[in-house]
Amino acid sequence: MEKMLKKTSQEYKMENIYYPLETKVLDVITETPTIKTLVLKPPVEIPFKAGQFMQLTIFGVGEAPFTPSSSPYHLETMEITILKAGHLTEAVHQLKAGDNVGLRGPFGKGFPLEKFEGKEILVVGGGVGLAPLRALLNDLFHNLNKYKRVSIKYGARNPSELSFQRQYDDWKKLLHVDFECTVDRSDGKWSGKVGLVTELLENTGIDLNNSYAVSCGPEIMLKFVTLKLLSVGFKPEQIYLSMNRKMSCGMGICGRCNIGPYYLCKDGPDMNYAKIQKYPDVFG
Ligand SMILES: Cc1cc2nc3c(=O)[nH]c(=O)nc-3n(C[C@H](O)[C@H](O)[C@H](O)COP(=O)(O)OP(=O)(O)OC[C@H]3O[C@@H](n4cnc5c(N)ncnc54)[C@H](O)[C@@H]3O)c2cc1C
Repeated sequence: MEKMLKKTSQEYKMENIYYPLETKVLDVITETPTIKTLVLKPPVEIPFKAGQFMQLTIFGVGEAPFTPSSSPYHLETMEITILKAGHLTEAVHQLKAGDNVGLRGPFGKGFPLEKFEGKEILVVGGGVGLAPLRALLNDLFHNLNKYKRVSIKYGARNPSELSFQRQYDDWKKLLHVDFECTVDRSDGKWSGKVGLVTELLENTGIDLNNSYAVSCGPEIMLKFVTLKLLSVGFKPEQIYLSMNRKMSCGMGICGRCNIGPYYLCKDGPDMNYAKIQKYPDVFG
């Protein structure tokens, strides 16, 4: 048993890449009516880079890809934030503390953080797309002195669908960090901005010559965010898109997640727009 606990996740993968690590659910946090965060306790620490993803197994139901939303610097637990979308995620939303799930991974490349150093980073999230970006934010916040500015723009369908609301005040207190959110539709009590997240990209004050933009959200949102970023002066090379397109194996075998010659599972899921812009199926 002791020997097993000392194995790294890499050793497990080397033994069998299809092997899901049995992992305890420590807690389930309700973020919104449709989004929950699982707090997981893997039997061994699973080192990952912000933007890399895991395959989560619900035993007897199936497996699907999800990106950790927790910090790559706090590996005792791993958080994964999940929107109820269909068969598997319905089962995820039934989970309770004490249940077991399976984890394989991490897969994918993750964000090129070394490129981001010394730059202003514009982080644009839509809906549950803020979850994969939260791992990136946790990493940026951990090394805040390496970046000139972190500007977060977030949009959700309505006020109750804004995830991680409990953290916004803490984020706003950080030096060189600003946060702004908007909702598509107000609920009457909402006193914040109403409109699409693209409207928050009009006047960011970002130093365009010294910045990168990173976005994650539904494909339709990624399309219009990309068009807006280009229209305000970002170059394709400065835009990274976290593409959470449907995929299966996570290892570049099944061929379900290609954009041109790229496999989002292996080459992404965080893709530089300059690499993929010429392919017709970029936004689904
Ligand atoms: C790399 C990666 C990272 C991801 N990270 C997260 C995350 O952190 N949090 C999160 O909530 N979700 C994430 N997703 C999406 C998640 O994998 C899907 O929502 C999940 O597979 C749906 O499974 P299901 O069985 O519940 O839905 P299904 O029953 O398979 O499908 C329900 C409906 O959702 C559609 N659908 C399923 N998967 C996707 C998808 N990937 N994109 C668009 N539509 C889809 C189906 O076409 C169908 O209409 C990620 C996807 C990828 C590829």
